[in-house]
Amino acid sequence: MSEILVLVEHVDGEVKKVTLELLTLARSLGTPAAVWAGPGHSAAASAKLAEYGADKIYVADSADIVDYVVAPKAELLAQLVSSASPAAVLVAATAEGKEIAGRLAVKTDSGVITDAVGLGEGFIADQSIFGGGVNVHSRVTKGTPIVAVRPNSTAPVASAGAGTEEQVSVSLSDAARAAKIVDRVKQEKGARPELTEAAIVVSGGRGVGSAENFSVIEGLADSLGAAVGASRAATDAGWYPHQFQVGQTGKTVSPQLYIAAGISGAIQHRAGMQTAKTIVAVNKDPEAPIFELADYGVVGDLHQVVPQLTDEVTKRK
Ligand SMILES: Cc1cc2nc3c(=O)[nH]c(=O)nc-3n(C[C@H](O)[C@H](O)[C@H](O)COP(=O)(O)OP(=O)(O)OC[C@H]3O[C@@H](n4cnc5c(N)ncnc54)[C@H](O)[C@@H]3O)c2cc1C
Repeated sequence: MSEILVLVEHVDGEVKKVTLELLTLARSLGTPAAVWAGPGHSAAASAKLAEYGADKIYVADSADIVDYVVAPKAELLAQLVSSASPAAVLVAATAEGKEIAGRLAVKTDSGVITDAVGLGEGFIADQSIFGGGVNVHSRVTKGTPIVAVRPNSTAPVASAGAGTEEQVSVSLSDAARAAKIVDRVKQEKGARPELTEAAIVVSGGRGVGSAENFSVIEGLADSLGAAVGASRAATDAGWYPHQFQVGQTGKTVSPQLYIAAGISGAIQHRAGMQTAKTIVAVNKDPEAPIFELADYGVVGDLHQVVPQLTDEVTKRK
């Protein structure tokens, strides 16, 4: 079976969950070959990739790759597309992943599909658009299919691959060195999972009522090991930081479970969460549009419903 390149997302040497999802997806369509770009590679990282089916692991661990913004990773992948002729290239549909995918498509004269939520036989990708109202199935018809897949679209399943390592050296063009990263400041990270990667997201909207009341949303999130999100009405009001806004002009999330509390379900909010596997809404207005989308709905005051839910979850742990 043909090789499918999977660009590895890693932080501090640890492979991120989305990569295990992409390897699982790649396994159903061909032979996964992981591509490690940048420093931090270790035997443990390779073992993890092999555990989830990587047959080959291309390791390009030069510091150059992460010293410049995005372009080197696209050049590395373009080099591998030319030398390994893979059947497809999969990247995570993060902001960086999508930029890499676009650049790679230009370099290899190939088609690109972004924000896929599934990928099947013949590399036909599923995308969910217009607030979840339309499902699109599309296929790349030119060059090597390059597909950016949203985190949490596939459940990662382990199945061992050979994990044969191959060192790769990249010769970066001057163009790839155009924008150098001069400093990195680590953001204080709380105990909660990253919003776009979390399997469960609990979001609050205008119905939460104030910044202080967001502790109700945080309480439920912490009982479930979830990330906290917010509608734009809540972030614009200054109740929660903008980096947690979900929607068209915020983050796109695709968790297994999305709980929307005090959120009406405007199309711009839906655009960022409609591909969640299960949607639960708590809203005091039975006519709120979010109920059209929700799998489970509770009509009630979130200040009564959410703390009870938190207590029940905590009791059952
Ligand atoms: C170009 C553009 C981009 C946008 N991008 C985004 C985006 O990225 N993300 C986003 O979210 N929005 C975005 N918006 C804004 C969007 O149109 C909505 O205004 C916004 O999503 C509304 O947020 P909300 O649902 O929290 O507030 P509302 O629409 O005011 O809804 C509040 C809901 O809370 C319920 N409620 C009130 N009190 C309680 C209570 N005590 N218990 C239970 N329920 C209660 C109400 O019944 C109501 O349904 C964008 C708009 C534009 C024009």
